[in-house]
Amino acid sequence: SRAFNHRPTFSKLVVVLAASSGGLVAYADSKSDAESSQNAPKKKVVVLGTGWAGTTFLKNIDSSLYDVQIISPRNYFAFTPLLPSVTCGTVEPRSIVEPIRRVVNKKGADIKFWEAECFKIDPTNKKIHCHSDIGTNLDGTGEFVVDYDYLVIAVGARSNTFNTPGVEEHCHFLKEIEDAQKIRRSVMDCFERASLPYLSEEEQKRNLHFVVVGGGPTGVEFAAELHDFVSEDLSKLYPAIRDLVKISVIEAGGHILTMFDKRITKFAEEKFQRDGIEVKTGYKVVKVSDSLITMQNASAGEVSVPYGMAVWSTGIGTRPFILNFMKQIGQGNRRVLATDEWLRVRECEDVYAIGDCATITQRKVMEDISAIFKVADKDNSGTLTVKEIQDILEDICIRYPQVELYLKSKQMRGIADLIKDAKGDIQKESIELNIEEFKKALANVDSQVKNLPATAQVAAQQGNYLARCFNKMKYSDENPEGPLRIRESGRHRFRPFRYKHFGQFAPLGGEQAAAQLPGDWISIGHSTQWLWYSVYASKQVSWRTRALVVSDWMRRFIFGRDSSCI
Ligand code: FAD
Repeated sequence: SRAFNHRPTFSKLVVVLAASSGGLVAYADSKSDAESSQNAPKKKVVVLGTGWAGTTFLKNIDSSLYDVQIISPRNYFAFTPLLPSVTCGTVEPRSIVEPIRRVVNKKGADIKFWEAECFKIDPTNKKIHCHSDIGTNLDGTGEFVVDYDYLVIAVGARSNTFNTPGVEEHCHFLKEIEDAQKIRRSVMDCFERASLPYLSEEEQKRNLHFVVVGGGPTGVEFAAELHDFVSEDLSKLYPAIRDLVKISVIEAGGHILTMFDKRITKFAEEKFQRDGIEVKTGYKVVKVSDSLITMQNASAGEVSVPYGMAVWSTGIGTRPFILNFMKQIGQGNRRVLATDEWLRVRECEDVYAIGDCATITQRKVMEDISAIFKVADKDNSGTLTVKEIQDILEDICIRYPQVELYLKSKQMRGIADLIKDAKGDIQKESIELNIEEFKKALANVDSQVKNLPATAQVAAQQGNYLARCFNKMKYSDENPEGPLRIRESGRHRFRPFRYKHFGQFAPLGGEQAAAQLPGDWISIGHSTQWLWYSVYASKQVSWRTRALVVSDWMRRFIFGRDSSCI
């Protein structure tokens, strides 16, 4: 049986392999039981990773209940949404990182951190194998093994090159602080190289051609930052070559920013055109050499363009050691580690996965709904009373938030009223509903099931949710709750994870940004940029980073960005 179905015995250690967080709300209603934790050894929770998911988990876990260990190759949390600003010196790298030991200290808890990388998970023996680059142990390898009772995998993802030849060797990625620093140096190198006295104009142009592969939010934001850096700062410092600079965004799909509303996509494309940023849609990069990027287009065929620096930002892939782990647990045919709605790794006891490294998979919604109907329709009459429908709908909506959203959509008004009934807004006793008709009405629900986006928002909410579940395990054991029908084979003590979307931003340069907020509310322009500043300042993990980021922004307004090649 799964961890959530067990009574905690406090005899094991929970190891958490990731620690990441972003200014999240501390969990207030955890029920720590001082007495029992005094008597029995605490369970070991091992967390892998200090990114958004792991740090949020760490910030919210009640460490008086567990023996928590964090393992990550980096000893800090990085505020990734500001990484594009680091590439051009708008914000300094140190302003967006928070040492993980400071997060631990603030909690005043006895949490252990190991700066190491996990390279193998052994779920049978509940052990993880790690390797540290910064020191060797007695056998001279720097390798060590950690036991866990519960393992929380929060290792994020890696950049996906789709095995395109030459990308690893010649392109920059933008995932880590080091990547942003490398890009910053590389931009300055291109300008300095293009300024050398012996270069032909053709070579100068090549060096000053900056290519961004991928028209998603990261690629677009980087292109916009670079354009601002060039037009506001570098053009004054390099007047002789400023007209030779070119920025291109290459996108395989038909448009950039396709995850946003069409109005935002259109605004971004038009703004880039006005700014002179070339957007090449419908072009797929097939090869990269040290000086040429080769791409394919349905009508133009294969085209090669010279470039000085390229940033690859086409999406994310699974880390190799997670792929190995997936093979071990029978998920070898999947691309991403699968969890259930309680964030438990499928087919693997006491292992949880949160953030970019995992995806929640659901059984076919309609299969479940049919099963629920079958149980409710005991006399096989094909009709149900309102009370029965209320129960069914409530259970379905708890289990599948997307069904509730779907039912609430305009086309489904009739059934949306029934949901209201289910919530007790209308008191009726005797209405009957034809089950087949009802199921037909729900038939489209499966197509409404969408994967959650790989964003900091999702990762942080999952870290927070999982910590709350861990904090409540004992309490909920003693106070069983929850509708019977959603209890699957065992009994779930917690509601499944529900993602709450608070909207997303796309900074577009020139002090303009676009925002898509819940309720289809779109905002574009200078005022949105100020909203962006306030949201990102408020979301910083500590007052220290908040002060540093705001002072960086002010420094940039007053003195411009720094162009030294340090
Ligand atoms: P990460 O934050 O990547 O953390 C993974 C952690 O695991 C790291 O600490 C890493 O060191 C550690 N790790 C890696 N390998 C191992 C190992 N073998 N063993 C142990 N630990 C390991 N999202 C938004 O919501 N809004 C934005 O504006 C936004 N902007 C972004 C801009 C950029 C440039 C990028 C790259 C991403 C952006 N994102 C944004 C996405 C967001 O950063 C990710 O979705 C988020 O970081 C995922 O969190 P995570 O904890 O799963 O992974």
